Amino acid sequence: MHPKFDFRRILKCMHNPFENAMAQLGKVAKITDFGDEFFARLRQPDRDIRISIPVTMDDGTLKIFEGYRVEYNNALGPYKGGIRYHPETEINEVKALAFWMALKCAVAGIPMGGGKGGITVDPKKLSKGELERLSRGWVQKLSDILGPHKDVPAPDVNTTPEIMAWMADEYAKIIGDKTGAVITGKPLEKGGSEGRGTATGLGGFYVFESLKKELNLPDKCKVAVQGFGNVGNNTAKIFAENGHIIIAVSDSKNAIVKDDGLDLERVEAYKKTTGGLKDFPGSRNITNEELLELECDLLIPAAFENQITADNAEKIKAKAIMELANGPTTPEADDILFKKGIPVVPDILANSGGVTVSYFEWEQNLKNEHWSEKEVFEKLKKMMEDSSLKILEKAHAAKTYLRMGAFILALERIKEKMKN
Ligand code: NAD
Repeated sequence: MHPKFDFRRILKCMHNPFENAMAQLGKVAKITDFGDEFFARLRQPDRDIRISIPVTMDDGTLKIFEGYRVEYNNALGPYKGGIRYHPETEINEVKALAFWMALKCAVAGIPMGGGKGGITVDPKKLSKGELERLSRGWVQKLSDILGPHKDVPAPDVNTTPEIMAWMADEYAKIIGDKTGAVITGKPLEKGGSEGRGTATGLGGFYVFESLKKELNLPDKCKVAVQGFGNVGNNTAKIFAENGHIIIAVSDSKNAIVKDDGLDLERVEAYKKTTGGLKDFPGSRNITNEELLELECDLLIPAAFENQITADNAEKIKAKAIMELANGPTTPEADDILFKKGIPVVPDILANSGGVTVSYFEWEQNLKNEHWSEKEVFEKLKKMMEDSSLKILEKAHAAKTYLRMGAFILALERIKEKMKN
């Protein structure tokens, strides 16, 4: 697609994710008394780093890629956060994601701070060798600041366990640390944790179960999921396995709807053979915008930022929204949805299962242990239930919505440690 017509690029110009994040912070400042100095500190990352990564391409030419690492806040522990590979990734996006990570770790109750990384690249256009050299190059440029007790990256959009394994290996070569705890989301055989692949979706499901009554949702929900990647696909499957009906899913190109429910295994197989979702037998093709406006019980955005905005929030018909993507709802849309009585379970709670199991992986690596999947999921469930209920309490006490409740809980925990 010509960049000029890239819908996401246009949206991003209109809604800078970091400005959105700061607008959310501004809303909390109005209803709390944490103090101006504390908010001033949180308006800037501890540091943001841009790097250039030279990569020798398969044809022998040299290409320079732009990469980033933002270390936002480490009051609670080492910076923690994924690495995104995307052609539209830029510093404001990474800063926003790093800020949300700081709050997310606090909400999850784990001893880690917030960071995020990225490279401006379309990984689908690289060969495997080029992708490996690029990923190792990112670590070479940043090895000084990374480390199990300093800054611990993880996967995000378009980064895989294999990429994490290359990065851990590169770090071990340069620094000599063999624990693997410098990076999470590794393959099982390279020190990854059981359950990391499905952790974000499963964590989201535990949050949903904890808040279902509060959200006034039926036992058998009709669910629409935007995004069919790691998070969207796994979340859809977990909801379907637990008796809910997935009426719609989408990827970057297409969306499909089937009122009596999609057979997700067949959808996945169809996408693998045809390369997309379009014309999946028995379903109707719709646009991604139409998916967001479907009549359903639960809408799960699981793709990118800025999907629910002032332009479409009025048209949302879902009874509730659960944000598995980071930053899918703009602050203006939040206000509209609140007035319409549509509750939004915020990203920093709903998708915190991923970082929670990443933290488990880090802990297992440092202690040289391997926990069973059962143990991982039991710990995850308890932590997700605890944070859901605490956020609900905070929101009720401040007579506000769930996102504000989550921010209040996170800021209390960060402020407490920043005193020291
Ligand atoms: P992914 O690369 O595996 O999948 C992204 C999916 O979104 C793909 O199916 C892609 O086709 C689709 N997509 C892209 N543009 C779209 C558009 N405009 N409309 C609809 N679909 C579109 O990435 P992921 O790891 O699943 O991450 C998705 C979201 O979840 C991101 O916001 C990420 O930050 C967040 N998240 C991921 C994790 C994790 O553990 N991977 C944890 C927490 C949050």
